[in-house]
Amino acid sequence: MAPATLPSLKDQVALVTGASSGIGAAIARAFGAAGATVAANYRSSQEGAEEVVRDIVAAGGRALALQADVSEEDEVRRLFDATVQAFGRVDIVVANAGIQQDAAFADMTLQQWQRVLDVNLTGQFLCAREAVRRFDAQQADPRISRARGKIICMSSVHEVIPWAGHVNYAASKGGVMLMMKSLAQEVAQRRIRVNGIAPGAIRTDINTEAWATPEAEQKLLKLIPYGRVGDPEDVAAAAVWLASDQSDYVTGTTLMVDGGMSLYPAFRENG
Ligand code: NAD
Repeated sequence: MAPATLPSLKDQVALVTGASSGIGAAIARAFGAAGATVAANYRSSQEGAEEVVRDIVAAGGRALALQADVSEEDEVRRLFDATVQAFGRVDIVVANAGIQQDAAFADMTLQQWQRVLDVNLTGQFLCAREAVRRFDAQQADPRISRARGKIICMSSVHEVIPWAGHVNYAASKGGVMLMMKSLAQEVAQRRIRVNGIAPGAIRTDINTEAWATPEAEQKLLKLIPYGRVGDPEDVAAAAVWLASDQSDYVTGTTLMVDGGMSLYPAFRENG
């Protein structure tokens, strides 16, 4: 699928975390195609991030790959410093980096619980807090956007759908939802918009076992009324819209991008 190209993010600087693969990489490419300058964060896959940067630059855009672990306060600060140093400002932040470490509840180690919360929830807190600080500190420019700044939190349908065997992950995404809404309420008056995206099942590295074989895919499709597994570009198109002025009156909401997965598909045939 071609990356989404509309609407425009011309002259804006966007930082995307976890941009070396999957949804983050698609968002970085789509932002580049929409005219944004992109800071593509990665934790360990430098090649993945550099490939995304090469694609954006080859298409005539500007981008840079920047290493940081989003769960580390100092590294997040350094990531924003490097972004502003390279590009002068930051207008859009997508807190996308996330992990799964699955286990039956009784077997889940404290380390598995903690690491998922550290990356998925604390990582988003650290990135969103740094974003708000930078948005407040810089001059708003109404020629490039009506908002002072935009934050997009990558959530999941599991911010509302309980998920056995993935309690740490579901707890982290439930936390992301109320962090996002509470923050949106707090900063709206400063013209900072904060929204979430809740993908359903998207074909990426995080969930390969759910779609990699025809049997697994058939089982997964039972949960998706729209009848197909999502692509990272489906999520990227939503992110471009949420980052753009076309959604200027939208804040504190989660956009479900899930082919209807959150519509209780088991009730399709009268429950
Ligand atoms: P992915 O594994 O391809 O991407 C996750 C990215 O986060 C990777 O690039 C990884 O390197 C990065 N990352 C992990 N820990 C990090 C850290 N500490 N610091 C910086 N980066 C780190 O999987 P994806 O599906 O593209 O996941 C992206 C986001 O989408 C995640 O937040 C995930 O929870 C969410 N999501 C995915 C799906 C899906 O079906 N794929 C569904 C709902 C939500």
